[in-house]
Amino acid sequence: MTALAKTAELTEAERTRILAKSALFNPPSLVLPDGRRDLVGLSRAELAAEMAAIGEAPFRVKQLWHWIYHQGVVDFTRMSSIARPLQAKLAERFVIGRPSVATVQTSVDDTRKWLFQFRDGQQAETVYIPDPELDRGALCISSQVGCTLSCTFCHTGTQKLVRNLGTPEIVGQFMAARDAYGEWPSPKGETPRLLSTIVLMGMGEPLYNYENVAAAMKIVMDNEGIALSRRRITLSTSGVVPMMDRCGEELGVNLAVSLHAVRDDLRDEIVPLNRKYPIAELMAACRRYPGASNARRITFEYVMLRGINDSEADAHELVRLIRGLPAKVNLIPFNPWPGSSYEPSTGNALHRFARIVMDAGFASPIRTPRGQDILAACGQLKTESERKGRGRAGGNVPFPPDPPSRL
Ligand code: SAH
Ligand code: SF4
Repeated sequence: MTALAKTAELTEAERTRILAKSALFNPPSLVLPDGRRDLVGLSRAELAAEMAAIGEAPFRVKQLWHWIYHQGVVDFTRMSSIARPLQAKLAERFVIGRPSVATVQTSVDDTRKWLFQFRDGQQAETVYIPDPELDRGALCISSQVGCTLSCTFCHTGTQKLVRNLGTPEIVGQFMAARDAYGEWPSPKGETPRLLSTIVLMGMGEPLYNYENVAAAMKIVMDNEGIALSRRRITLSTSGVVPMMDRCGEELGVNLAVSLHAVRDDLRDEIVPLNRKYPIAELMAACRRYPGASNARRITFEYVMLRGINDSEADAHELVRLIRGLPAKVNLIPFNPWPGSSYEPSTGNALHRFARIVMDAGFASPIRTPRGQDILAACGQLKTESERKGRGRAGGNVPFPPDPPSRL
């Protein structure tokens, strides 16, 4: 076997392992205690199977899809193209669910944060970040309750992984936010309105919950429903290298990579996943990422920690790492949270760093923190949800399970 084939085989094995472990943390079943099933989150094929099971024709899928994802209705009686008796039959067997809103807070800068609660009582946060100049904004969606990857500067990282969010819970965050802003029906062929982009940058590591995230993104991208273009979706990863290729090939969404350090010794410490997938492997995966181009650049996120990763030498090394890549660098001033031990870089350090990256030809905007007063800024999200003992959803199974060989 050639070296290349061997690497491909190893990557495939690693992907299989990641997906198998991820499944241990899947959410509870879609069936409600009264036996009804939530239709949100089902693919077209799954919806067709549900219809077949109750003796209904395949064309019902198209109708239901339109009402659920284009019109945004949650009540079968509003589906005017479906006759009353069938509306009643559907309502007996199914629901069109939404996560419930536990709390909602609006910041002085209009950023809004929801604490959504799901059927089993678990909670996750979603943040709407309006664009201050344009009449639109981005919705920052969570993919897991908690996170396994204790990055030292991140509030979510202090909360153990409780479980993955399911497909309906991921799509449901977007749909519930649309409900709140009265944004149904989905615009057809026009520019989306307030909720015009999705960033998978909330709680959790989306590539450790790939199946649910991918199914959810396929639903929001479906042209007959929410119809958000893949160009309006950005997935942020701390660097789960084996899943990056799959994400690019299958979803083609924009990629953001949480780099934060340019030397393995420092990244090993602040982004511990680096011990498993070090910088060289991460950068190679970025170079392979399908669809990256000057029009669709890879975003490197870099949280600026005073005296830790913000020197001029760091900036020069960053430029060396990304040279030749269609890339931009988001410099994120560290957002403090209760109990955090880092300090944000000084304004001088930030501007010096940005200048070096810019002079090398890369855009390097300094991100203004949004929603800090309501703990809604990058890395400030955390819920009270806790993993309860052993049991469903994997109990105390550690994730990822085996310490990486390089540790
Ligand atoms: N787990 C994924 C996506 C969620 S985190 C990831 O790490 O990419 C979203 C972004 O916020 C990441 O770039 C993360 O590193 C950054 N972040 C985390 N804590 C932060 C903090 N305290 N201040 C500023 N940015 C932070
Ligand atoms: Fe998890 Fe991302 Fe926070 Fe790291 S930065 S702990 S990967 S949510």
